Amino acid sequence: MSATCDMEEAGVCPNHTEPSESLAVRAARLSDALERSVRDFLVASDQNLGDIELAVERQSQDLLRLATEKAAQKKADSAPPRCPVCQQPLSRIGHGHERTFQTRFGAVTIRRDRGYCKRCKKWRFPADALLGLEETAGYSPRVQEMAALLASKMPVSEASAVMEHLTGVKMPRPTLDREARRQGERARELRRKLDEQACQKAPAVVQPEMVLEPYQMIIQMDAWNIRERDQWGQTRRLRQAGQEPERWHWVYTGTCFRLDHRGKTEAGRPIISQRGFVATREGIDALRQQLHAEAMRRGLGQAAGALVIADGAAWIWRLADDRFPEARQRLDFYHAVQHLAAVGRALFGENKDQLKGWLRPLVQQLKNQSALKVISQLEEILRARPAGATSEGVEKEVNYLREHQDRMDYRAGARQGEPIGSGAVESTCRQAQCRFKRPGQYWSQRGDEALLCLETFWRNGRWNLLFPHNRHFDVSKN
Ligand SMILES: [Zn+2]
Repeated sequence: MSATCDMEEAGVCPNHTEPSESLAVRAARLSDALERSVRDFLVASDQNLGDIELAVERQSQDLLRLATEKAAQKKADSAPPRCPVCQQPLSRIGHGHERTFQTRFGAVTIRRDRGYCKRCKKWRFPADALLGLEETAGYSPRVQEMAALLASKMPVSEASAVMEHLTGVKMPRPTLDREARRQGERARELRRKLDEQACQKAPAVVQPEMVLEPYQMIIQMDAWNIRERDQWGQTRRLRQAGQEPERWHWVYTGTCFRLDHRGKTEAGRPIISQRGFVATREGIDALRQQLHAEAMRRGLGQAAGALVIADGAAWIWRLADDRFPEARQRLDFYHAVQHLAAVGRALFGENKDQLKGWLRPLVQQLKNQSALKVISQLEEILRARPAGATSEGVEKEVNYLREHQDRMDYRAGARQGEPIGSGAVESTCRQAQCRFKRPGQYWSQRGDEALLCLETFWRNGRWNLLFPHNRHFDVSKN
């Protein structure tokens, strides 16, 4: 061995380590090397803690990589010669098939057996399934997870650079994109199964605490739009055929929570300790199914009652009638106020002071007294006015409020400590839009759905179901 290699001295040079050397010996050498780094750091006046953090990480990397490789090889050696898909014994077993893949600590290479499954008519590598390696991608489960999480939080171009900067794992943009979508597809499949289970399962034996403290389930829905490029390059052809290419599409979003999980922080900020999220690009039917399953998982089956709160969109109330027929319905308070304000603008035009003076008592009545009282005052105004354009505007708004009068029980709602607005789902939409509506962000429907699905697994605290190696993961950190 040459005495000129620093890394060799540190016991971390991959070219100079003996395969037979135990991890313990290498760890001891690393420990010496770390001590030296600490001494160097102490005399380096231009270095702060960041320097030693990076140095220690760099020096330890190879030991961690070797430990991972050793573990992977031993686990691979223990894989029974059975088909991981159908469990049939494999035939024509061959040994020593090498595979190199990226782990959190760098590339590792293992040798494993390959056998033929007569039932599946396919060659199989039982070790790959045991280790959680995907058939075609060269990444360990932890790296697969990193790609999925980063891509669901930021544009892929940034995700690739952030991953390398923070962890040293190199994954080019197109690969990261592909890997994240693969994980998103896996998430969709898992969601489908979980939703099926949630809706099939008859309510289990009711837990005593639920009997003692009946709770209400709050359900909120909204929609926002997203830009996609499914029809890119086809604009001319579509226009010639008399169609306008559609680039903006609706993302249907819902949230649900138990009323008794809503509270306030010490600073008085409202919080909801546990709540479910749903977001889908696949239409109202998909939302209906997913939101119902989510509500069931969050305890709809045992709830004393349910309440749907939303803005006035007709699809929402149809969905609520259909899927949550027992639930009470409430029009978002702020939304109702906007319609009142529209009446005010029709009456007073640009005179803001007059408008405010007229609106304030009505808003108070709507909140603290009854919607019927407010509506009858509006109808009186309408009767007193001559027919004309302004009256038509007023009439439209009054009709709107009349249509929703049974959904405006704000006083009773507030007395029972229920929300009177759909702020929870609106903030959910805002957060999702920050991620999915960045400039230059165009995807396909399928890609969007995959990423939205990853995002909802994370937010719902179910990330560990998708990546079971996170079994000790604290879901409240999501
Ligand atoms: Zn098989």
